[in-house]
Amino acid sequence: MNNFLNLLLSTNKQQRLRIRRSLLASLVFFISINSVLFLSLMDRVPVTTAQFLSLGMMLSCVLFYGILRSGFNLHFKEPALTMPQIVMAMTWICIAYATTGLAHQSTLMLFALVMVFGIFVMNTRNIIIATVYSILAIAITMTYKISTEPNIYLWDVELVTFLMFAAMMTTIATLSLQLTQMKNRLKSQKQDLEIAVTQIQKIAAYDELTGLINRRRMTEVLAEHSRNHSRQTDGFAIAMIDLDHFKSINDNYGHAIGDKVLAIFGESARRVLREIDVLSRWGGEEFLLLMPKTNNGHPNVGIERLRAYLACIEVSSELPNLRIQFSVGFTCHQVGESIYDTIKRADGALYKAKAQGRNCTVLN
Ligand code: GH3
Ligand code: MG
Ligand code: MG
Repeated sequence: MNNFLNLLLSTNKQQRLRIRRSLLASLVFFISINSVLFLSLMDRVPVTTAQFLSLGMMLSCVLFYGILRSGFNLHFKEPALTMPQIVMAMTWICIAYATTGLAHQSTLMLFALVMVFGIFVMNTRNIIIATVYSILAIAITMTYKISTEPNIYLWDVELVTFLMFAAMMTTIATLSLQLTQMKNRLKSQKQDLEIAVTQIQKIAAYDELTGLINRRRMTEVLAEHSRNHSRQTDGFAIAMIDLDHFKSINDNYGHAIGDKVLAIFGESARRVLREIDVLSRWGGEEFLLLMPKTNNGHPNVGIERLRAYLACIEVSSELPNLRIQFSVGFTCHQVGESIYDTIKRADGALYKAKAQGRNCTVLN
């Protein structure tokens, strides 16, 4: 059954939807064909007219199915071919209106059905085109029939029918336009929401001052690396970094300079450390660095490179002697141990680095 549906409707999700919609419209054509054949059986419609209508409608359905199923529709700007199908259906309704004699008025309700088919996919321009086309086409058909068959197409009845028809079509068009506006509003609201969610995700994961990931995000990264460690041969090391005498920088030069020091530290670390290292602002003037181990040397090398780099960087031209220094507690994560134990060990090492006089790294 599934194979048959795939063959009939295609496996592509979008194409499937278009073909299904077109086949549903064909079902309406099928009912119309049977109605015409019934009318010809009742001698209300000439057999040749019934044959012409049936064959014409059937061929139109087959044509559109063929275009959609073969994928030829994908060459068009609007691959659903909604407008050509709507115009085709409306044209057939006009032909049926002109050829079904006494039963002709029953065909008019199909116009409403055609509009309903397009209501979800038509844009403002297409809604207007479809409405104007239907009103003009039926006006021309009516005028022609009043002049050629005035006994069946009575002018006063046709006039009233036309007015009712025009009122119905413009009402449907107005409602369709409202729906289109609603759809557009929903679309733009969805886009705004997506932008807001991205911003919220960024705010939730990043530290504003340094641009580094924050403690919350880093905890997730650490947990992920810890989970993978058993499967990775190299594992990873972490470094707890704490800026030296930061409080006195704040006290001596002000909070703005303190903030600048933090930002410069983050920026320099991003520039100097390896791409695979992950640095986070752990809190205040503390940073936690995750360094996946690789075969290219000891991960601690990057930290010393950063130390040397910062020794050359001026925080402010007005404070030429101010340099950023930091102490580091460095440790390697052991297979199976909790990440909190690793952090605790790094903290212990950092404590020792401070006790040893700062601006150095202690391994634990
Ligand atoms: P040590 O060398 O022992 O690490 O001393 P320290 O002065 O660096 O450490 P301490 O913990 O005494 O002081 C840290 C200071 O960092 C205190 C706090 O006000 C300041 N601080 C924390 N967050 C920020 C921030 O975002 N901006 C600024 N300017 N200061 C901050
Ligand atoms: Mg501290
Ligand atoms: Mg400090």
